[in-house]
Amino acid sequence: MTNHTMSAFSHLECTSCNKIFPKEQLLNLCTSCHLPLFARYDIEKAKSVIQKEQLVYRESTMWRYREMMPIEYEENIVSLGEGWTPLVTAKRLGALLGFSNLYLKDESLNPTGSFKARGMSAAISQAKEKGVKKIALPTAGNAGGAAAAYAAKAGQEAYVFMPGDTPAAFQVECEQYGAIVEKIDGIISDCGKIVAQRKEQEGWFDVATLKEPYRVEGKKTLGYELAEQLNWQLPDVIIYPTGGGTGIIGMWKAFAEMEALGWIGAKRPRMISVQAEGCAPIIHAFNEGLDKAPPFENAKTLASGLRVPSAVGDFLILQSIRESNGCALAVSDDALLAGVKHLGKTEGIFAAPEAGATVASLAMLRDSGQIREDEQIVLFITGSGLKYVDIF
Ligand SMILES: *Cc1c(COP(=O)(O)O)cnc(C)c1O
Repeated sequence: MTNHTMSAFSHLECTSCNKIFPKEQLLNLCTSCHLPLFARYDIEKAKSVIQKEQLVYRESTMWRYREMMPIEYEENIVSLGEGWTPLVTAKRLGALLGFSNLYLKDESLNPTGSFKARGMSAAISQAKEKGVKKIALPTAGNAGGAAAAYAAKAGQEAYVFMPGDTPAAFQVECEQYGAIVEKIDGIISDCGKIVAQRKEQEGWFDVATLKEPYRVEGKKTLGYELAEQLNWQLPDVIIYPTGGGTGIIGMWKAFAEMEALGWIGAKRPRMISVQAEGCAPIIHAFNEGLDKAPPFENAKTLASGLRVPSAVGDFLILQSIRESNGCALAVSDDALLAGVKHLGKTEGIFAAPEAGATVASLAMLRDSGQIREDEQIVLFITGSGLKYVDIF
């Protein structure tokens, strides 16, 4: 049983110093500058094995793009059916808010109820391919649930560290997938420190956001799907609720790869990053023209997935916003909760509070002249509201 995926994965490359590492190594950060690594592909090889017209015959998961994913053997793909989520037209929400060409990428339908499933399917598959038996991570909630589920499917042990005030459903969910959960007095960055301190001794592979190169490969499929679902024409605007930033970074990487493959042209959407007022490091850095985001003090928001005061990939998030001619803005917790309600009552989607922030941003962006009412705009509905019922 050694069916090759025909993956064109060729090596890992540091996003900052461009140092190259062999794909056979299971790595976290660049060993020289301690910044994120990207998986790179042999584009000519990929072109010779897959044309975009053939994708229509593929499975309805993110693994339809397997030549551009970092897994060599099919038996190592750990899948629960993630990806290929609906891109729906939001007619009633658009009418309510005054937008005529509004779309939702409904990621709440993923296994474990959020788009974290994409990243974890890729990272846990890579861990399986390299023989890892134990994984660990800090989480605001959804990443933990996804990691626990995929680790269960792969037969790996999962150790999950979450802030003490994380909504109860996240802990229950992880435990039912057989993970060991520790609640920490602090926020996600404190959880991250514990994983970093203990991982060597415990033999854990650390799957924290962007501290390994494979989760972003799962998240990049958001970009591939968007292009395929829009018949290879990207929208004018993408609005993305940003925590650690893997989704926005992944999509930006996907667009470059697809252009190299000849699947799309040079047009890019304006990438708009939304955060919560109580934790807006990227917005501050963007407004101040900084290349990196100073840690945000006293981070506080009900949208736990946005409570990331300091992201390792901050410079990559800022690059994608600026290169795309996009922008960044913060919304209040009241506004993002109202966004969830607007979405629920007009479109029948009960979204996570993080996703409510994208809805809340629309009027502000129009009023400041950053989007027009007739532009094609895609909101990323990154997760379901069901695990957050205690905050509404
Ligand atoms: C994690 C998460 C986010 C933020 O995603 P990043 O890729 O870390 O920026 C947004 N929404 C939900 C529901 C999440 O779980």
